[in-house]
Amino acid sequence: MRLTVLGKSPAWQDIDGACSGYLLQEADTTVLLDCGNGVFGKLRKFVDYVDVDAVVVSHMHADHFVDLVPYSYALIHAPRQQPVPVPPWPGTDSPARPRLALPPGGRETLRQVVGAWGNEDLVEQAFEMEEYAVESVVEVGPLRFSFAVMPHFVDAHAVSVTSSNGGGRLAFSADSRPAAELVEFARDADLFLVEATLPRPERSGVRGHLTSEEAGEHGRQAGVGRVVLTHISDELDQGEAAQRAADAFGGPVEVACEGVVYEI
Ligand SMILES: [Zn+2]
Repeated sequence: MRLTVLGKSPAWQDIDGACSGYLLQEADTTVLLDCGNGVFGKLRKFVDYVDVDAVVVSHMHADHFVDLVPYSYALIHAPRQQPVPVPPWPGTDSPARPRLALPPGGRETLRQVVGAWGNEDLVEQAFEMEEYAVESVVEVGPLRFSFAVMPHFVDAHAVSVTSSNGGGRLAFSADSRPAAELVEFARDADLFLVEATLPRPERSGVRGHLTSEEAGEHGRQAGVGRVVLTHISDELDQGEAAQRAADAFGGPVEVACEGVVYEI
């Protein structure tokens, strides 16, 4: 399976960047994992949005789903999606309608968001929508997605991806405070894509994210093959974050970067 980073920003975009968004491709199958702000435009640099088979969302925070809104407008209103010719497009009887796998409660959250301007069923019109259960396996072509709830400000779902064609396993942390369940979920993953939002632990309140050092430490405890940091702002020193994570992991660590491709 091939992973392409579309966006790695935290809840606000890097300059010219995008929030959470990762393209997964295996044979003819294309899946978008998370669709945060800025991701739709980045997606279009790499694949045609009508060729995406499914979108899988880890949790219902804006930086992980809000570009489902422009994506929906494209699927509904783009000239190429219409039944009649709109030059230069010939018209189609089978407009693209990708699957959209949301966490439990995701449908209602989206209805509230787009309902704010009277468009309650916008996303449902555009996508073949489903909600996964945490214990379920979502299969898209050869790709298999499984989940575990991580402690965050809302239930976030870490996502594990494997392919029936072989290859390795991707474990994506989603967003999480330091947690034994994240170590368990990532156990022996070939590539651990892990959030490293914080330069230091939160100063007050309930914790919701990891530092880069904690991200590396989770990778070490889980015995993963490779650690890639994500959900980290360009306002932090990326090299220093990678070094702190590497010291904790006990091996080299990279920071995710738009357009970088990982073969897993
Ligand atoms: Zn979040």
